[in-house]
Amino acid sequence: MPELLLEVNGLKKYFPITGGLFGRKQGEVKAVDDVSFYVKKGETLGIVGESGCGKSTTGRLLMRLIEASSGKILFEDQEITRMSKSELRRVRRDIQMVFQDPYASLNPRHSIEQILEEPLIVHGIGTKEERRRHVRDMLDVVGLSSYHAKRYPHQFSGGQRQRIGIAKALMTKPKLIIADEPVSALDVSIQAQVLNLLKDIQNEFQLTYIFISHDLGVVRHICNRVGVMYLGRLIELAESEELYQNSYHPYTKALLAAVPIPDPDSKKEMIFIEGEMPSPANPPSGCAFHTRCSQVLDICKTTRPREHDLKGHLVACHLYNK
Ligand code: SF4
Repeated sequence: MPELLLEVNGLKKYFPITGGLFGRKQGEVKAVDDVSFYVKKGETLGIVGESGCGKSTTGRLLMRLIEASSGKILFEDQEITRMSKSELRRVRRDIQMVFQDPYASLNPRHSIEQILEEPLIVHGIGTKEERRRHVRDMLDVVGLSSYHAKRYPHQFSGGQRQRIGIAKALMTKPKLIIADEPVSALDVSIQAQVLNLLKDIQNEFQLTYIFISHDLGVVRHICNRVGVMYLGRLIELAESEELYQNSYHPYTKALLAAVPIPDPDSKKEMIFIEGEMPSPANPPSGCAFHTRCSQVLDICKTTRPREHDLKGHLVACHLYNK
């Protein structure tokens, strides 16, 4: 098996719900509930699910932008969850994020040059001259020109701003990029260009990606393996083509059925998920999907299904207990 870059074991993030006069804890939202996976060097792992499933919280936990309630995150065998502030600063050179809304992460009062230079200044990398040269090199890598360095974020289109967001992530020569819905805010025609750019720079800079998205259609073209989350839990994970051709979990099947196919004569079976996603503050007992599952069994209502390994294809469902 290729070398692992990241290993996540039993990761949990419970947010307390407080209320009343004294702000007492009244419950908790299980945003991420016992999630485990690994990422191999050089691969792209997709994490997919509806909004509120915990995928973005998982991304933020991996960078320790928020603290985990419990669980382990190992990056190159170093435990991120236990690192001191200075150790964490060092490892953050190697792990960068690309966000859905680049505009929100680009200071509108700073020029692109200042924005791109900032991560290098934070990490004490290079002289002023070297940093400026690196800014121009990275603009070139993401398909922009050196004259763009003197401009400001509002002078760019959404697609160009995402290219700047990607250039910013590349500045410290990271090993892992966590891309959280990186193309969701873009027009469909621009989405393909940004996805192609991500693919190209992956080869050029030997990057590993975690690609977070609500859209299984987008993820298919970029990911080697895909994990599906529902209500804070990872319910299925497999090689990308295996998942698309041979998914087991009723929730994954329903998500895949909702991906549009360009062929109007396609005989694709329509599967509908009934009802709304339950609140993570009050998740259903047993299998969290049982309130919406068309194949629900009695055991599903009381017992949480454990993860079954079907020759590397992981699924948490009582129908697959071999
Ligand atoms: Fe449906 Fe039961 Fe499987 Fe959950 S465990 S997905 S409720 S069949």
